[in-house]
This record gives sequence, C-alpha cells and structure tokens, in this order.
Amino acid sequence: MFFPIRWLERRWLARQPFPPEWELLVTKHFPFEATLPPEERARFRRHLQVFAHEKDFVGAKGLVITDEMRVVVAGAAARLARNLSLDVYDALMTIVVTTGAWERDGGIILGEAHQWGQVVLSWDSVRQGLKNPFDGHDVALHEFAHVLDLTDGRFDGTPEMATFSALHAWADVFSKQYLALRKSPTRDKVLRAYGATNEAEFFAVATEAFFEKPTQMKQKHPALYDELQRYYRADPAHSRERPSPR
Ligand SMILES: [Zn+2]
Repeated sequence: MFFPIRWLERRWLARQPFPPEWELLVTKHFPFEATLPPEERARFRRHLQVFAHEKDFVGAKGLVITDEMRVVVAGAAARLARNLSLDVYDALMTIVVTTGAWERDGGIILGEAHQWGQVVLSWDSVRQGLKNPFDGHDVALHEFAHVLDLTDGRFDGTPEMATFSALHAWADVFSKQYLALRKSPTRDKVLRAYGATNEAEFFAVATEAFFEKPTQMKQKHPALYDELQRYYRADPAHSRERPSPR
C-alpha cells in the first residue's frame, strides 16, 4: 500500500544529515558498519534513521528512553534489513523497552514480538547481546527477525518471498535444517538449541547465527547460509562482519 505522508516524510528525512550525536553511538555499538562497502553503509544508516524516526519508543517500568536506546535498537533492526526495502518494518508501530527479564509459563523472556505491531525488549539483554557479538545470541536481532517473519502475515519461519521459486528453495532447505536441529538440538555448534522449538524460532535463531557466526554457519550449514544470504541480500562472512567485543 502507498502512504503519501510516510513517503514525503522519508524524502524529507533522506535530506537531513545523520545526527552528529548519533555518530559516536553508531561507531561504539556497531563497529561492523566500518566493514561495509560505502553504499551498504549508507543504506544501513538510512534504515536506522527511518526506524528511529517512525517507531514509537516507550519505556516500561519507569525507564526513560535515551538516544542511546533509540540508536541501538534501530541499529539492530537496520543491521538485518539494510539491503531490504524500507517498508519491511511498516507493520511495526511500537518498541517497548523495559529493564531485566520477565517470566512466563516457567520460562525467562528477554524479548517478544507481537502480531499487533509491538516488540518488547529488555534493555539489559539488548546490551548483553552487543557485548558478546560472536555467540549467536542477540535478543534484538532475534525479535526483529520475528517481525520480518511476519511480513507474510504469519509467524511461521518464512518471511515474504519475492518469487515462488525462492519460496520453494527456502522451504526445502529450512525444513531439512529444522528437522536436523530437532533431532539433536544440543549438538549443533552454530545454531542454539532454542531454534528447535518451532519453525518461527528456527528462523530467528538462524538469523542470529547468520550475523554473529557467519563463517561457522557457512562451513557447517552452507545451504542455510545461502538461503539467508539470498533473503537478506547480505554476505556477512565475506565482509568479515565482526564487531569487536567490548
Ligand atoms: Zn523468539
């Protein structure tokens, strides 16, 4: 659907310089950006700016939203979608940022993506994810993968695909890899066992590994890597997308 106001706003935003106070935050939290070719880096920043500008950021449990939270959360969303259309997050309206983790049905929750256009993130867990950029575990990347999954209307592990043949190839590879992980979830050194929960979690966990352990994934699961590379139009193993730990 075409939204003229959104289009005009994005056109206005594209003419604005990148906020200088965000420059330091991006360098600090997303050092991988320096490894990207200039056009890809520009697309990353554009996605980040649009996301930070268009989404409602709400602090829960008395948390006050800072520029750092806005840039870090928008940066995680932009990292996934930098080579995708600016519209992929259109159905997402609100980011609720909270402290700590919460419990449900005996499980610990660090983040959630809801069908009604809301993502809830624990700020502590988001920061934890950035601190360990090679462990294949990053709650912000995980939740935004769920949002992309929903672009076809369902949390089913398959985002909207451009063509039927792309969908067919995706389904073939993903179902095999998912079943393999279900068989021996703790043996896989690249994909977290949580990915064996269901197809939606498998896609989110595979996305985390694609960006955080790209070289290992390419070696151990080349077909899965290829499908994710085609979907995200990114090749993190090649660009040595390795943020330095801090
Ligand atoms: Zn999940």
